[in-house]
Amino acid sequence: MPPSSYRGRFAPSPTGLLHAGSLLAAFASWLLARHAHGQWLVRVEDLDPPREQQGAAAAQLEMLEILGLRSDLPVLWQHARHAAYAAALERLLQAGLAFECHCSRADLAATGGIHRHCVARTRRPDPAIRLRVGGDSIVTFKDGLQGLQRQDVQADVGDFVLRRADGCWAYQLAVVIDDAWQGITDVVRGADLLDSTPRQILLQRALGLATPRYLHLPLLLDADGHKLSKSGASRPLDADHALDALVSTWTMLGQPADALQGIDSLAGVLQAALQHFEPSRLPAIPAIYVAPHNGIVRAAD
Ligand code: GLU
Repeated sequence: MPPSSYRGRFAPSPTGLLHAGSLLAAFASWLLARHAHGQWLVRVEDLDPPREQQGAAAAQLEMLEILGLRSDLPVLWQHARHAAYAAALERLLQAGLAFECHCSRADLAATGGIHRHCVARTRRPDPAIRLRVGGDSIVTFKDGLQGLQRQDVQADVGDFVLRRADGCWAYQLAVVIDDAWQGITDVVRGADLLDSTPRQILLQRALGLATPRYLHLPLLLDADGHKLSKSGASRPLDADHALDALVSTWTMLGQPADALQGIDSLAGVLQAALQHFEPSRLPAIPAIYVAPHNGIVRAAD
């Protein structure tokens, strides 16, 4: 097989167990990477200890192992990457592209939380660090599934946080540094991160990093339109139903159900899935409505 320059990844945060939405991102990113004869990496985004659940990272990795979705390189843990984030931040500070910010949430309430200039009246001992978003901040990109995207980052988001006042690294900085460092060419993830992408592209530009291709999968919503991962309908994936979960995810990805019919092993399902996967069938829609059924999520329509 010729070496491919495609490198994808799945990058869960260990804030809970994997659920149907995570499986959609994991399976689709794996299928696309394998289809392109590329590599697929797993990265644990354990950046935010206050939001993390004890044991979740290990349980997520174990579930991926059970499913047969294996990282081609050792799993990268973001807790081991603080020096790289600090070095990038230092470069941005030195270049005058980032700045210390003493504003509190209350200070920014009047502008809807959007930071355009500092309004803090008191200095904090540990200020946050933000990226200065200048006038030239309209970002457009073509998403692999959701089409042409455009965001005016200054108007819609403002100067955004790179390191929080509590010392935690912001997701936006860490994801950009690690996608570049790992040589990721294709980011495949849920559409809840579609509006983070322009911030990531601005950061890539500020740091002189390449911009990967992006493909955002539809969000899974329950019948009431709530994000599945935030609603009671979201159940952790269950190892005993891993095969059913893969099969229902396959159909949510717009792929033909009969390709996997009657296959009763996980390895068999993955093999058949790879044979029959067709990227052009992926659903180019922002959301899929699903209904829970015996712990397995099925496409409603
Ligand atoms: N860690 C993020 C999450 O679990 C995903 C980050 C990404 O794929 O860019 O929601």
